[in-house]
Amino acid sequence: MITNEQKVEFYQALLDKKTEYEGIFFVGVKTTGVFCRPTCPARKPKFENCEFFENAKQALLASFRPCKRCRPLSHPNHVSTLVQTLVEAVEKNPEKRWKDKDFKEICVDESTARRQFKKRFGMTFVEYARARRMGLAMKQIRSGDAVIEAQLSTGYESGSGFRDAFTRIMGTPPSKIGNNKVLKASWIDTILGPMVAIADEQALYLLEFVDRRGLEREVERLRQKTKSAIIPGHSKPISLIEGELKEYFEGNLKVFKTPLFFLGSPFQIRVWEELQKIPPGETRSYSDIAVAIERPSAFRAVAQANGANQLAIIVPCHRVINANGEIGGYGGGLKRKQWLLTHEKGI
Ligand SMILES: [Zn+2]
Repeated sequence: MITNEQKVEFYQALLDKKTEYEGIFFVGVKTTGVFCRPTCPARKPKFENCEFFENAKQALLASFRPCKRCRPLSHPNHVSTLVQTLVEAVEKNPEKRWKDKDFKEICVDESTARRQFKKRFGMTFVEYARARRMGLAMKQIRSGDAVIEAQLSTGYESGSGFRDAFTRIMGTPPSKIGNNKVLKASWIDTILGPMVAIADEQALYLLEFVDRRGLEREVERLRQKTKSAIIPGHSKPISLIEGELKEYFEGNLKVFKTPLFFLGSPFQIRVWEELQKIPPGETRSYSDIAVAIERPSAFRAVAQANGANQLAIIVPCHRVINANGEIGGYGGGLKRKQWLLTHEKGI
């Protein structure tokens, strides 16, 4: 049951197109008979014309039809067929240098492709294909091939062009990349909105909601601390966590087994390990955690370590609430924290 207080809150979220409310509510518009997700780009209805629902089914049952613009029945950030086609085309021939005329060959409208790609990946299709190609170059460089060969096989005629692109995408020129690590970054859709996962071949380093405050800074810090290049791609830990998240959101998984890498101070790592001991369905306060790690007076530092967690959901910092029972803060947004806690009570 949605309270009047929530209705006011949801309406504000609707006006602000707040992504953290994706999956939390749907809104039916009485004047048009359609229902939308919170982030719908269409003009916003007046408050008195809104009817709020906790899920799409309720809205359908109340005889609203799905909005054609925000498509509330498809998965949030559902990959369009067009984007899918393009991603597949790149995977078929990842070393190809894509040009605008190639779009016509695979029967894709260039401007639509550009827009959709930009929206989903934050870069154009040509940039995406280039980043993918750069990833291959990276692999060759790491396996010992000379820089010049990598340069030729990725199709950059001039050395400086190659270096520029490389620097822009990965932050380090090829001659210096030598022993650098490579981390792969991947996009994972969840019912609470898209997440980004970053991993090497052994472990997961980061899992965050894409709209988390300060995510760019986090990623940059990760890149610098690990002296890594981060490129779009997949690795085993990413596939593992993708599967586990699906199970978790369906209510079938309590303990994550994807191997993790904790990038933090020894104190932070102790806190994160302690957080992992909180069973789903239960909560702790910062003081509880401070006592558990035998630093009872360090609850402020515990709170900071909690906030510095980069592995959302898996290291359950959302299970830490205020000592007075209030829900406390959450980097991914309070609505998500509340949702996760409620969800975990049922698994
Ligand atoms: Zn809509």
